[in-house]
Formats: sequence, structure tokens, C-alpha cells
Amino acid sequence: MDRLREAVGPEACSNRTADLYTYGFDASIHHRTPDMVIQPRSTDQVSEVMRIAYQHGIPVVPRGGGTGLCGSAVPVQGGIVMDMSRMDSILEISVGDLCCVVEAGCVYQDLNDALAPHGFWFPPSPGSSDACQIGGMVAANASGMKAVKYGATRDYVLGLTFVKANGDVVKAGTRTLKDSSGYQLARLMVGSEGTLGIITDVTLKIAARPKTSAMVLAAFPDPEAAGRCVSAIIAKPLIPSSLELMDSVSIDAVNKALGNPLPDCKALCMIEVDGEPEIVEKELKIVEEVARSEGAITVEATHDRKAMNRWNNSRKAIMTSLAALRPGYSSVSLADDMVLPISKIPAAVVAYQRIAEKYDVTVATYGHAADGNLHTKMLLDPNDADSWQRGEKAVDEIFEATLALGGSVTGEHGVGISKAPNFHKERSSVIPTMVEIKKAMDPKNILNPGKLDQWEGSILRMLRYPCSEYQD
Ligand SMILES: Cc1cc2nc3c(=O)[nH]c(=O)nc-3n(C[C@H](O)[C@H](O)[C@H](O)COP(=O)(O)OP(=O)(O)OC[C@H]3O[C@@H](n4cnc5c(N)ncnc54)[C@H](O)[C@@H]3O)c2cc1C
Repeated sequence: MDRLREAVGPEACSNRTADLYTYGFDASIHHRTPDMVIQPRSTDQVSEVMRIAYQHGIPVVPRGGGTGLCGSAVPVQGGIVMDMSRMDSILEISVGDLCCVVEAGCVYQDLNDALAPHGFWFPPSPGSSDACQIGGMVAANASGMKAVKYGATRDYVLGLTFVKANGDVVKAGTRTLKDSSGYQLARLMVGSEGTLGIITDVTLKIAARPKTSAMVLAAFPDPEAAGRCVSAIIAKPLIPSSLELMDSVSIDAVNKALGNPLPDCKALCMIEVDGEPEIVEKELKIVEEVARSEGAITVEATHDRKAMNRWNNSRKAIMTSLAALRPGYSSVSLADDMVLPISKIPAAVVAYQRIAEKYDVTVATYGHAADGNLHTKMLLDPNDADSWQRGEKAVDEIFEATLALGGSVTGEHGVGISKAPNFHKERSSVIPTMVEIKKAMDPKNILNPGKLDQWEGSILRMLRYPCSEYQD
């Protein structure tokens, strides 16, 4: 600890009880207290910390905004939590070169606020945009509502600097739009969840902001009709800038919490189109026609920014509204981020509801339906072991149903702990190669150990809730 304090300064190190307790959480169901929190200010400091940790075999877990939903920033083997939030500078915005360079701790929204006056943006748009950091987004390959048209974080990473487990600094990629020079190591860090290195700066491609946008809100009598509408819009062909689907549990939760901002129906689609005004006008009409022809009960269209914000905020309020739906119950992220072939969305929504009924748990299904990404949240009594057990069985069946439909366990949140057992089932052919890469880059297994392919057994361990059966 003395050497670490020397490396970064005493003000950047803490082992105060309150800090250790706080840094044991992310936004998942898990908690584990680390031994020390370090807040570096430079790549050199990160490198020095890693040299010391490597020498002594101390686990190090890099942490961005701590908004991850699957436990990937929880220090399950203790050690050091490396909080990147002091490395938050925007180092360069180069509109002429279509790129920007930021430190890893830069918050997503801060970058977009800085890009806006130039007429540019970094589009992935996660729901956590006010808090998540660019380093965390790269490490999780985050995306969000706009992915159907604008892609995920991986599509924008041109280069990055990372510090290896032994403290060596690697500058991967370039600040050019193309690069064919050997292994694409910057891309290898995308989705690495803190297990291969500490990212300290990132060079991102940027995109021109769309001139205008408009939205349609279509209410349906059942999720199948809503799902058909999603496929029919894409098949036109028409790529919306976002297309959100909500099931009846999500609609009900938001209407109860926010005073009925949404139509009372079994499923709805919020569809946004963007671009040049005349194209937006044309596409809006096509979307309205498709929604009606697929059986929508009501179809509302708007160009009004305030109305669009109201709809978008209702969609974003699902998580918090669910938490208030049933007193004494918590809304938890377990099987929360499945991704499916777009055509399988209706079958998945129906299957998830059947599984919820079978295990007597409340499950809300919603998500970015046009890129096949469905989220579920489950309401559980966090103090009741039986509630957790039914939840875990439901989770396993939701993942089984997803894989049977040709999907995958996570589209944007990552694996961490919550998806690990089902990730093992899905990607058994990939895991031996992942193990080899991890051994080559982190031979002492000190970078975020115990996650991804290394998590063993049930996900009901190290819970943040006071259910004694599941505390380690
Ligand atoms: C309300 C809410 C809404 C959300 N909506 C979305 C959404 O729409 N789309 C989406 O994709 N996700 C969403 N998420 C999940 C989460 O915000 C994303 O996964 C995000 O990318 C995490 O970023 P972070 O900075 O908070 O990272 P953290 O949670 O701190 O860490 C995530 C992982 O990245 C690693 N990491 C962090 N920084 C670094 C670094 N500098 N170098 C190496 N590894 C690092 C950590 O070790 C960990 O494994 C949501 C979460 C919440 C709470």
C-alpha cells in the first residue's frame, strides 16, 4: 500500500471503509468489498500501479461509471479497484479527420455535448449516457437505441492505449479511418470487460448529426402484431434510427409510475426516423402505414421535440418504474440483454411471458427490437431465497429459449457474472481460445479475475441484498 501511495499520491488511494464498501458495487445484483481504491490521473500512473500489482499478484479491477448491470466491475477476488473517473479529458476533436481522442474516464454525454457545436456525435446512445464512461463502453461494447442504424461502440473504435497486466503500455490502432496493419488489437479490447488490460485513452470515429427526426407511437393488441410490425418496417427496406418495443408489464409499470403517458395496450412500438427533412417526412408516412397494416389499434406521429422527449423518457423510465410496481420487491437485472434474429422477436416475447408464469415471477420485456435486442427485468423479493431460486430457474429457461431461437445471451451489457453460466453453454467452442489469449496477456490472472469464462457455479453468490443464503 505504501508503494501504491507513492506511485499515485496519497490523495488518489483510499482504504477507508466507506470507500471500500461503495466501490464494491456496480449496478448489478452483486457486491464484494475491495482492499483498496485507486484513482489514477495518467497512463504512467496506471502503468506504475500495474507493475506493483503484477509483482505482488494483486487483483486489479478497472472501473468506469460503475453502471454495468452484470457485475463486471465488482471485485470478486478483492484487491484494487482502479477508478478511471479522474482521467476524463477530451484530448482532441478533429472534425476534418472525422475522429476524436478522449481519456477513458470521459463520460459519454460530456463527449457528445462537446461534439454537438461541431455538428457531430458519437452515436451508440446507451441508456446510462449521463454516467457511463468511454472506457467502460469499449470494455463492454455498449450500444443502445440507435444501434440499428448507427452501430455499437466497436464500430467507432479506431485506436486506443491500454496498460497490460505487467505495466507495459500498448498503443493499438491508428487515428485514421482505415488500418490493415496486422492484428486489430484495439478491437480485441472491445468486450474485454477489464480482463485483458486497462484502457487509458480511446480514438473514436465520429458521425455527422442527423438534421431532424420524427417519431411514431403505435399501440398493438398483442406482442405478435408489434413484432410483425418491426420486421415489416425493416423489410420495406427502411432502417429507423430507433425502434423500441414495450410489453404490457413495462407499459403498465410506466403508466402507474408516471400518470399514464402511454396508451393502455398489450404491446407498443416507438419508432424514430431521422435525416434530411424530406426523407424523414417520407419515412414517417411509410412507418405509419406499416403499423396500421400490421394491426395497430392507435398510431400517433409527431415532429414535436417535447412530445418525442416525453415518449423517450417514458421508455427510459421502465427500470425505475418497475422498482416501484410491487412494494417490497426489487427489479433485478438477470437475463436482461438477449439478442435475437429480428424475425424471432414476437416468439421470444411470448416465450418469456410463459416462463414468467411458470415460475410465478413478474417479468417485463422491452428493448431495441429492430436490432433484435430484448431486455427483461424481473421483480423478486430480495430477502426471500425461494424468490431468487424461482428467478434463477426462469433466467436459465429464458436463455435456453433465446438460444433455441438462434439468439445470444447478451447484445450490449456484457457477460460479467450474471450471464457467465449461460455464456459458457452458448460459446463452448470459443472459450478455450479466450483462455489462451487471457493467459498470454495476463499470465498471473490479476486483471478482473473470476469473471467471464472464469466464473463458476450459480449466479446467486455475493449478492448485494441481505438474503443470507446467498452471501459469500
Ligand atoms: C440505467 C441503465 C441503463 C443502461 N442502458 C444501457 C444501454 O442502453 N446499452 C448498454 O450497452 N448498456 C447499458 N447499461 C449498462 C452499462 O451502462 C454499460 O455496460 C456501460 O458500457 C458501462 O460503462 P461504465 O463506464 O459504467 O463501466 P463499468 O460498469 O464501470 O465497467 C464495465 C466493465 O468495463 C470494465 N472497464 C471499465 N473501464 C475500463 C477501462 N478504462 N479499461 C478496461 N476496462 C474497463 C470494467 O472492469 C467492467 O468489466 C445501462 C446501465 C444502467 C444502469
